[in-house]
Amino acid sequence: MKILVINCGSSSLKYQLFDMDENKLLAKGICDKIGNELSGFKYVVITGIDEDGKEIEAKEFEKLHIADHSVAIDLVLKKLVNKETGVIADIKEISAVGHRVLHGGEKFNGSVLVDEKVKEAIRECFDLGPLHNPANLMGIECCEKVMPRVPQVAVFDTGFHATMPDYAYMYALPYKYYEKYGIRRYGFHGTSHRFVSKRCIELLGGKAEGTRIVTCHLGNGSSISAVKDGKCLDTTMGVTPLEGIMMGTRCGSIDPAIVPIIMKKENLTPDEIDDVMNKQSGMLGVTEKTNDNREIEEMAKNGDKRAQLVESMLCHQLTKYIGGFAAAMGGVDAVVFTGGIGENNPHYRTRVAEKLAFLGTAIDEEANGKRGKEIEISVPGSKVKLFVIPTNEELMIAQDTFEIVSE
Ligand code: ADP
Repeated sequence: MKILVINCGSSSLKYQLFDMDENKLLAKGICDKIGNELSGFKYVVITGIDEDGKEIEAKEFEKLHIADHSVAIDLVLKKLVNKETGVIADIKEISAVGHRVLHGGEKFNGSVLVDEKVKEAIRECFDLGPLHNPANLMGIECCEKVMPRVPQVAVFDTGFHATMPDYAYMYALPYKYYEKYGIRRYGFHGTSHRFVSKRCIELLGGKAEGTRIVTCHLGNGSSISAVKDGKCLDTTMGVTPLEGIMMGTRCGSIDPAIVPIIMKKENLTPDEIDDVMNKQSGMLGVTEKTNDNREIEEMAKNGDKRAQLVESMLCHQLTKYIGGFAAAMGGVDAVVFTGGIGENNPHYRTRVAEKLAFLGTAIDEEANGKRGKEIEISVPGSKVKLFVIPTNEELMIAQDTFEIVSE
């Protein structure tokens, strides 16, 4: 069975086509700057697997005008069946489409087959996910138009966190704001936390009951989750993906009183302060140069004080969240690192493991030096196991879609 996975943003559309019988990626790519005079179209065919198990890619780029998302999906489908570069003979081979949807509010605790009610519920969450949910719904509606009769499945970023108890998701604000506006912790990156925690449970022996895992998804956006008995107990992101650990351009948790203070001093509107916290803060805000962790690593090595400060802030915050979640779960059996930074930056992993040594973490520096593949990085006998597990949100979406349409 072939499953197409779509991640639709306001001016972009990412896609991946999976062959579920062989559990393999066939093609992927992105259409960006949709609606602009010159949009970009990237198409990548997976031609094989190299000795390290990495996919061998044949890439194609095109600059052309993509008027809207329906045109983009049409373009993707044409490319997938193209006689020369295609990977399937007919569009009919695509059995279902899985969509990444940011916000499911309180309605969904798992992935669902899309119908009118589901679309309405996604619409009801426009207020909570104003940048993503309208685009996600547009992606679903465009696919329905271009591929009528093909089942569509919605996979929510918030879904995995639906098991959080009320004492973890409630904020100590007047209760009426929860009732009137749904102000509570929802959490994000759920597909990634679910993917890596599931894999971690397999590595720990396969039984979810009794396991206590902290999953650290560290990328441009970052979040950390406490996963007890295979279920999310708590996570760092909140009503929106701004709360928690500092990120590339997002400030993470700050004293909320800072918001009115800066608004008054700098004469900012709510939208402007929102922009400051989401796009001008985090690693970019502190270095005043870059949000790219690779550049920060290089700058820090060359003695740049701000880059060194960012590294120390991040390690300190990581340690606090992991330690806090360990306490909330009554202990911790494993810590998982994933995402662009989590998978590739051994330096943070070493520093955090050293600080958490009192909990029983002992890192194996040789294993920790290997980049970008699944590996246990704690020494044998380490009380708390440490793993690097590359995330694969698209595969998780494809697996959910496969399960739902196979029922
Ligand atoms: P997103 O949240 O957009 O999916 P990613 O998970 O791709 O982001 O993470 C992007 C971050 O990962 C960037 O800060 C980037 O510098 C960092 N990163 C990616 N590859 C490496 C690497 N090889 N070494 C260090 N950092 C890396």
